[in-house]
Amino acid sequence: MTSLSDLPIRDDLRGLSAYGAPQENVPIQLNVNENTHAIPEDVATDIVRALAVAVMGVNRYPDREFTELRDALATYLGHGLTRDNIWAANGSNEVLQQTLQAFGGPGRSVLGFPPTYSMHSIIANATGTRWVTAERDSGYAISPETVVAAIQREQPDVVFLCSPNNPTGTALGIETIAAAYDAFPGILLVDEAYAEFAEGDTALSLLEGRPRLLVSRTMSKAFAFAGARLGYLAADPAVTDALRLVRLPYHLSALTQAASVAALSHAPAMLAMVDDIKAQRDRIIAALPGLGYTPLPSESNFVMFGGVADPNATFEALFEQGVLIRDVGIPHHLRVSAGTEQETGIFLDALTSLVGHST
Ligand code: PMP
Repeated sequence: MTSLSDLPIRDDLRGLSAYGAPQENVPIQLNVNENTHAIPEDVATDIVRALAVAVMGVNRYPDREFTELRDALATYLGHGLTRDNIWAANGSNEVLQQTLQAFGGPGRSVLGFPPTYSMHSIIANATGTRWVTAERDSGYAISPETVVAAIQREQPDVVFLCSPNNPTGTALGIETIAAAYDAFPGILLVDEAYAEFAEGDTALSLLEGRPRLLVSRTMSKAFAFAGARLGYLAADPAVTDALRLVRLPYHLSALTQAASVAALSHAPAMLAMVDDIKAQRDRIIAALPGLGYTPLPSESNFVMFGGVADPNATFEALFEQGVLIRDVGIPHHLRVSAGTEQETGIFLDALTSLVGHST
């Protein structure tokens, strides 16, 4: 049998592992920070209606500029943004990839602050961009001083900050982002995939007068649209022109565009469960200390918790009870997404049943 290493693959891809969050068909899936609530039925019906119209036109290529969608995203974001500030792609993963295709690549580097979203380094590798890292402060925070020192030391071409950060849930202060921007002449991307769950300021408020600042968002999390694959960013119009150089023509299908525009026209209904999800997150944070675990504060829809003697054993024991959470590879820690009230209850009950065992 041929194995990967037998193929004449690029040298810099040899030995790397692919993104591998398990996709298992178990009753309680709390491992990839989705919104586990189904979208409202009347919204679904409206989306299907929009899709039906789009299907009638699929003999033609879609609007390459996804103009209606950019308008809808600009309206959703507010902050005085217009369609010229907006870019979108198939998930924010693709937005990040296009960003590194345009501003990273061979001979260039991107700086990140682990533990952070695992795809940041994978996308760096895939685009031939050198992934360099710096340490966070205690509690996984990043102060303005820490970010500036790291940028001065590494002299990166691109910096990825993630706020709120996956997997820790930590949000960054706006002063850290502003300080990072001023510390170098490169591209600063703030990955705000979980922004709708956070309390503090968004980096969108910093865009004015900062043409090298990119703020990426997604419809996959709060917006309950992960399966539709729509991520986007807001930036100076010159940045979107740069991304046009690397995107494939017609990269957003007519069906993706139609479904996303229809969903955005129901933004309040699509976001209706955000408060409930935050309440479930806070319920997890409140319950875990009683079970001997140490949850981190979170401004997202998930909780990372420490005090786990053997993360793999706990992961497996929960899995046997039909509950899938995430081992993010941090010693003595696990991560769980806040689900519906019922899912969250089943997770907490399952975890409670393990207490006193060796896990
Ligand atoms: N950024 C962060 C921080 C994430 O956690 C995720 C998804 N796990 C993404 C980006 C990518 O999401 P999508 O491609 O679905 O927009």
